[in-house]
Amino acid sequence: MCADFIYIVSAVLLIYGIKLLGKTLTARRGNFVSAIGMTLAILITLIQFKPHNLTLTFVIALLGAYVGVLMALKVQMTAMPEMVALFNGFGGLASVSIGLVEGIKINYIPAIYYNSDIFFSQIAICLTLMVGGVTFTGSLIAYGKLSQKIPTGSITFCGQKWVDLALFFLLLVASCEWIGAHSIWAFYTLILFGLLGGGVFVLHIGGGDMPVIISLLNSFSGIAACAAGLIIFNKVLIVAGCLVGTSGLILTLIMCKAMNRSIKKVLLGGFSFKATQTTTQKQGELKQISIEDAYYILEAARTVAIVPGYGLAVAQAQHAVKDLGQKLMANGADVYYAIHPVAGRMPGHMNVLLAEADVDYDQLTELETANGRFADTDVAIVVGANDVVNPAAVENPGSPLYGMPILEVFNAKTVFVLKRGQGKGFSGLENELFTKENTRMIYGDAKSTLTQLAAEFKE
Ligand code: NDP
Repeated sequence: MCADFIYIVSAVLLIYGIKLLGKTLTARRGNFVSAIGMTLAILITLIQFKPHNLTLTFVIALLGAYVGVLMALKVQMTAMPEMVALFNGFGGLASVSIGLVEGIKINYIPAIYYNSDIFFSQIAICLTLMVGGVTFTGSLIAYGKLSQKIPTGSITFCGQKWVDLALFFLLLVASCEWIGAHSIWAFYTLILFGLLGGGVFVLHIGGGDMPVIISLLNSFSGIAACAAGLIIFNKVLIVAGCLVGTSGLILTLIMCKAMNRSIKKVLLGGFSFKATQTTTQKQGELKQISIEDAYYILEAARTVAIVPGYGLAVAQAQHAVKDLGQKLMANGADVYYAIHPVAGRMPGHMNVLLAEADVDYDQLTELETANGRFADTDVAIVVGANDVVNPAAVENPGSPLYGMPILEVFNAKTVFVLKRGQGKGFSGLENELFTKENTRMIYGDAKSTLTQLAAEFKE
């Protein structure tokens, strides 16, 4: 009874914490509140189920906490998306471990299995092993792609769709065989194919489709946790799993809408990287502009759009961009920040960075509103953004990006593109914005360029 009450308290804390995470100002508190909820849940679970070796349990928990704290302290801000992908994966692995242990109990010592409804447990175990396994290896591949340890594009092979289909059917067959005939080999086959399936599945998704798959894996980690909670009747695990699973699913749909892609197309299609090479050859000439000349144009500008992308995160230029924005406003310009939902490497990446620099929330402009404003904008400053401003998405039907809503900065009177060199965006595509008549390139690290531009505005 007391344990149930504490479970409810921790579930409420988790839900309240997630609500606080929704706003940048309260996000830190939200994280803390959720952490308290989770700690309570862990403690009450330990007290309720009394592990055989409490010391060993604590040593393992402390070791895990130590590794987690160390990773969180050491991680660079730019590596945050990869770390989130890894955490998703570990969530999946933890669920697989629960499914594995409980499955082994059913296989070898069914007499002592505490749940009389073994059929129900087996269904929950199958779900946990399948979804958890896919989440674990899928997230590892996503980690490799985000950190560019493996190619970021879609990696496909001959007959890959048949392999996907075969793996899916094998998972179903193995589940039925284990549940119906209690075949132990089917149980291990299920684990093996679950793990294999995640890797193969995420390998062929890449480029611009990655945001969708990251949020889908996040949702999977919740579904796996929820199924694991059903196996061991842990209420907090069920509640937390449902929350992550459903919110991840909603985020996936938002990401699909942002990319104008159907979930089916993302999962089955594969972002065609090869098509890219022939359809988006660089045309025209890149025109460079000096800091001084750029300043003269900015000085005369009445409306300025700042368009941040992944390069802003790499350069850690959020404070420098705010500084330039303030100088422009002090000079009488109307300044707004145009935010693309998939800019950066994780959902809300740009919002988080700009909030860190205390950029006024009212200045953040969503994609559709920004697209309505560009024609009346004197200068659009593209700070380390590439794919999210690629005009191929609206101009080139042969491009894999075609149909994806982009920030149409090319409609502004003048466009400044701040980047270090000829580097491509995450999708690996050429960007014809850079050679447009009204575009000027300013090469260099974004932070240094922005600082130099701001310095031109004398106090
Ligand atoms: P991109 O990855 O398309 O482009 C980033 C650009 O920043 C590069 O062209 C690079 O050029 C430049 N850059 C890098 N470092 C610096 C620096 N220090 N200073 C100045 N410029 C720099 O970024 P976008 O934000 O436009 O697009 C995001 C992409 O990531 C999309 O394709 C999206 O689908 C994908 N993605 C998004 C996720 C999300 O959840 N938001 C998750 C996974 C993938 P150069 O090297 O020449 O400097």
